[in-house]
Amino acid sequence: MTRPWLKHYPEGVRAHLEYPRVPLYALLDETAAHHPDLTALRFYQHRLTYRELAERVNRFAAALAGLGVRKGDRVALMLPNSPAYVIGYYGTLKAGGIVAQVNPLYTGRELLHILNDSGAETIVVADVLYPKVQSVQSGSPLKNVLVARLQGGVEPGPGAHSMEALIAGAAPQAPEVAVDAGDVAVLQYTGGTTGVSKGAMLTHFNLVANALQVKEWMAGPAEPGQERILTVLPLFHVYGMTVCMNFGLATASELILLPRFEIAEVMNTIRETRPTFFPGVPTMYVAVNNFPDAESYGVSSIRRCNSGGAPLPFEVMQAFERRFGSVLFEGYGLSEASPVTHANPVVGLRKPGTIGIPYPDTDAEIVDIETGERVLPPGEVGELRIRGPQVMAGYWNRPDETAKALRNGWLYTGDIAKMDEDGYFTIVERKKDMIITSGYNVFPREVEEVLYEHPAVLEAAVAGIPDPYRGEAVKAYVVLRPGMQATEEEIIAFCRERIAPFKAPRAVEFRDSLPKSAVGKVLRRLLTEGERQA
Ligand code: AMP
Repeated sequence: MTRPWLKHYPEGVRAHLEYPRVPLYALLDETAAHHPDLTALRFYQHRLTYRELAERVNRFAAALAGLGVRKGDRVALMLPNSPAYVIGYYGTLKAGGIVAQVNPLYTGRELLHILNDSGAETIVVADVLYPKVQSVQSGSPLKNVLVARLQGGVEPGPGAHSMEALIAGAAPQAPEVAVDAGDVAVLQYTGGTTGVSKGAMLTHFNLVANALQVKEWMAGPAEPGQERILTVLPLFHVYGMTVCMNFGLATASELILLPRFEIAEVMNTIRETRPTFFPGVPTMYVAVNNFPDAESYGVSSIRRCNSGGAPLPFEVMQAFERRFGSVLFEGYGLSEASPVTHANPVVGLRKPGTIGIPYPDTDAEIVDIETGERVLPPGEVGELRIRGPQVMAGYWNRPDETAKALRNGWLYTGDIAKMDEDGYFTIVERKKDMIITSGYNVFPREVEEVLYEHPAVLEAAVAGIPDPYRGEAVKAYVVLRPGMQATEEEIIAFCRERIAPFKAPRAVEFRDSLPKSAVGKVLRRLLTEGERQA
């Protein structure tokens, strides 16, 4: 195959790298051995050096082994960004376990799906979220519930453990577990192409590779400890996990952890901590751009921002760069690729509006949508497929889904894209009907299932409509049963009781019928046509 993008690699960035066949935690151990006194984590007034972090990780791994966690066992993490998340993640890997990622905003029923699907017998949960775990525990495989103190509000009940007490009482050495680079490290839950939430199996090798690819693309950092990373992307999402945490810990950077994106808090944190690197999603940069008097918060300390997860509007990039003098690069990735596969290179070689060019050792092609086998020439629109060391091993316990996504040695992304003559890629639209709202993924089918539970709903369809702030907003189109009544507010409230608030519709339109194709599938694009043209 031709790789036109190789001509556009910035100086100093290699097209091929060596990837050590080590477990992911070996990267953290190496940093801790060489730079024990550098700050690894900063969480409000609390700091942990690399020595302290590695010590806690080892003790937590020993504690998990003491609770019976063995190689290959799944440990669910349900935590906002915090030292407990990082210790829980690396401790699980060191005990030989597999991290099952859970979004803390999930309701009980969404949590239960992940627990049952992954078969996790152990969960580490933030104190404030503990009641959610209690509410589903009896119907789940859970045996060990570990509660991390974040806000100090809720004490572990009978049968649950305090994470801090376990760490304090554990042996200082991690257990001896033979972990191979090819072993699964993380189940990254994602809707994938069909909308059913399934776990992308990311191996230690995948995660080491992507952390090192990010490092190479950043052309350094030349000196360890150079970066202070504003870590406000959630670590339970693949983007924050790799680009903030795994990259950061492999390069002796300081992670400035924030548990949520609250703009005033983010701005104050920037002023106090002077971050140098801020990976984010477009809506975060919109919020910074619109913050009054943002210049006085020292945003210019941020040398570099990477935007991903959703299309970055050109105006947003331009306004941010003009105002703060930092640079904002767009990249692309997906859960199934650990996630990063494309990024724009340095200023001068970048092309705004594109997702840039493939990472080192990463191949990308555009193929025809129908068969997925015919490679299309530059300029033509088709499905993007990818291969590289960061591509997942498959979906957990779903061989049929795996066979659809991984074909002929390629990962089929489900994204419709095109490549130009220089090898720069542009995402045109998503093949899958996934909605991205404020950086969160929402799968229409899941919301539709809840709508169908409402007694007055005869038919329902959900689609994303353009939203200037969220990128897209979730909208429901509903046909009521004859003779039954329901208001927009009632339907929204009904959904909010059953699914995370970001998934619930923000608007409901009542219709007499829904447009359908010949085989009876609802045509979502027809539903939103008016809104997209507006
Ligand atoms: P996730 O698996 O949650 O990381 O979501 C991955 C999806 O986000 C991709 O398949 C794309 O549809 C979308 N995505 C990621 N980055 C971009 C981007 N720069 N432009 C457009 N869509 C993107």
